[in-house]
Amino acid sequence: MHHFSYRDGRLFAEEIPLEEIAREVGTPFYCYSYATLERHYQAFEASLGNVPHLICFSVKSNSNLAVLNVFLKQGAGLDVVSGGELFRALKAGADPRKIVFAGVGKTVREMEEALRAEILLFNVESEQELLALDRVAGQGGMKAPVALRVNPDINPQTHPYISTGLKQNKFGIPFDTSLEVYRQAKELKYIEPIGVHCHIGSQILEIQPFVDTLGRIKELVQRLREESIAIQYLDLGGGLGIAYEDEAAPAPSDYVDALLQELGGLDCTLIFEPGRVLVGNAGILVTRVLYMKRGPEKNFIVVDAGMNDCIRPSLYGAYQAVWPAVQREGEKITGDVVGPICESGDFLAKDRLLPPLEPGDLVAVMSAGAYGFTMASNYNSRPRPPEVLVRGAEQWVVRRRETYEDIVQGESVPEPLSGADPVP
Ligand SMILES: *Cc1c(COP(=O)(O)O)cnc(C)c1O
Repeated sequence: MHHFSYRDGRLFAEEIPLEEIAREVGTPFYCYSYATLERHYQAFEASLGNVPHLICFSVKSNSNLAVLNVFLKQGAGLDVVSGGELFRALKAGADPRKIVFAGVGKTVREMEEALRAEILLFNVESEQELLALDRVAGQGGMKAPVALRVNPDINPQTHPYISTGLKQNKFGIPFDTSLEVYRQAKELKYIEPIGVHCHIGSQILEIQPFVDTLGRIKELVQRLREESIAIQYLDLGGGLGIAYEDEAAPAPSDYVDALLQELGGLDCTLIFEPGRVLVGNAGILVTRVLYMKRGPEKNFIVVDAGMNDCIRPSLYGAYQAVWPAVQREGEKITGDVVGPICESGDFLAKDRLLPPLEPGDLVAVMSAGAYGFTMASNYNSRPRPPEVLVRGAEQWVVRRRETYEDIVQGESVPEPLSGADPVP
């Protein structure tokens, strides 16, 4: 469910026609719907009711400060995976006591920053990381609150690139050795093991893998408590999928209900780290048709956004719907929607049946709110697009379009090399 819809054949973001936003900011641009963000968060929140819980929005799915602010205003915490994301989280005004920090490669500097901020939980992914954190915390005279990220070896039935809870994945500590690592953690002077963390993957469309994971984790928590390791937090990660095409995505309330049932009477504060399910369908990428190329074997609709702006189709073969900004009658065309990047893998959509389009028309690449702008790059020296937040009839540019100067910022030619001598 989202608030991008047609009125009299024109596509609106809440109360504003996309054409109007394009006139002001140019193309391409990302557009987010405030009402959709809020609604998705509330759906999650409402289904948790009085259960002690914290929803930590996954910053990597959409890191814009204004988007973070929408969730923070609803009482959210944040899930970060780098020092840069921690910086953003704090800059957006997050309460550090609601920040959790995951990632397989945390550096000493990142640990120091997070300890200084006094975050809620370090989600530790290996034995060596645990020892490093103990050292860093000791140097600062602090105790690090820790959950071990346990790898439950459960197949989430999603794209291999976004499966994270299998034995062959780099994430977490194998389930079978986790008890041993917890015992070790308990003995470390500057570590306080207070939680269990897991995150099995992304765009997961079945509830069962989450329930199976919780089943395994629950056993572990009971074992830990028997050994006086006082687990207070159960961080169940994110990963709930959304409908990009016609998939049947579970409702957050069904997901939460199934987990609460599996949890039984286990007394813990639950942490969730949803990303995609909160922002995915709350954002679109709006791009303009440059050329219609009718090839001998294929038609190409060349648009002004490319894989540098939205890489999901190229990277994962992901499907994202393409909607015209203005609905038009006439003969439909089948073709690939492609960008200007010099790569054959640069496409936003493949073999799509689309309404008649002409150069100058706007189209919206739907479901682009998660892993859209955050994965954008400057490849081909293309300035990254602006991000626009719409609430009702109001719109704000929450990140301006980059300039050519932005692109070369920080680069320099070393002085000894900068002379005008011709290369011999
Ligand atoms: C990426 C990630 C998430 C969010 O995943 P979604 O599929 O977007 O919900 C949550 N937790 C961790 C540790 C992650 O790496």
